[in-house]
Amino acid sequence: MKVIKIDKKIWAGGLEKLKGSYRLFGPVKDNEFHNFKRLDKGKLPDFNYFNTRLSPKSIIYPQSEVMFEYSLDEGKVDHHIMKEMDMDYSSRAVIGIRPCDASAFLLVKRNFDTPQYKDPYWVKAYEATTFVGLACNNPCSTCFCTTAGCGPFHEEGLDLLLVDAGDYYFAKTISSKGENLLKSAGWDTEIDAGKQIKTMKQEAEARIRSSVATDKLKNKTTTDLFDAPFWEEVAFACINCGTCTYVCPTCWCFDIQDEVNGYSGIRMRNWDSCMFPIFTLHASGHNPRNTKMQRVRQRFMHKLKYYVDKHGDGIQCVGCGRCIRLCPVNIDIRSVCDLMNSYGNED
Ligand code: SF4
Ligand code: SF4
Repeated sequence: MKVIKIDKKIWAGGLEKLKGSYRLFGPVKDNEFHNFKRLDKGKLPDFNYFNTRLSPKSIIYPQSEVMFEYSLDEGKVDHHIMKEMDMDYSSRAVIGIRPCDASAFLLVKRNFDTPQYKDPYWVKAYEATTFVGLACNNPCSTCFCTTAGCGPFHEEGLDLLLVDAGDYYFAKTISSKGENLLKSAGWDTEIDAGKQIKTMKQEAEARIRSSVATDKLKNKTTTDLFDAPFWEEVAFACINCGTCTYVCPTCWCFDIQDEVNGYSGIRMRNWDSCMFPIFTLHASGHNPRNTKMQRVRQRFMHKLKYYVDKHGDGIQCVGCGRCIRLCPVNIDIRSVCDLMNSYGNED
């Protein structure tokens, strides 16, 4: 591990150099909010933000992605043959991703990149990407990352961590991908800033005022939690809008559809949400999660119990707080987690 000092006067020049070998993405002001966008020539990331409204998961896993195309025209030799689309998996870098969002990709990786099954689209996009984090010196009031296995200076899932230190950034190298990016940008002034970064990290962690208790989730009996009486009340106000799942960096569900126009067809996948009534609708008309309560329960049971039971090392949430800030009816995962963690008598 080494730390490079980047004077802000040479920041823009280094980023322009990087654009020669990477497709860059970064936070930019998008009407009232910040979101991750492609940084074209001359465009800089805007670090004057707490966290983006949408997580950067779409850079690896687009909201809509065409997987195959085909022709139904029997006059063509390749009719009815699925053909892979041309995808761009050239090197890309996400500049200024928050540590929680980078860490979220590691949770999602457990779904898309397993020894048994590899989602080629997700895996190729993820492997082509260098993640340059931006430590949170001033976390939001809804952030609870430090009790969700993460933190404002968390390094897992990152290749480089930038720390804003006034007139310059410290860039802490975490992987060889991060070192390569520094070289490509021409940033090479090494500095001994380990102690300063440690102090800033402790100060940032002390600013996280929000927390969740998750210590008892694993020992709860799944069926007890499933049948707990609080679900009706938790779900009462929900309007099943799906916002919580769309903004969440750790939600990964999608639906696959064919779209045919004349003789041309595409097969695409689109983000889906367990909060939508037709998400589990069977072709027979039966719907195993037919009520709002069942859908809300599914979201929380998946993140806070099924995932915990399957992996045994934390919840399927990094504590970014987006679902709390953006739920139109103020359903708060922290309160639900507390209800689940303290339910029943098991230790
Ligand atoms: S954002 Fe709130 S209202 Fe919308 S589906 Fe999620 S919990 Fe329900
Ligand atoms: S569940 Fe909510 S707080 Fe947790 S990672 Fe998803 S959006 Fe962030």
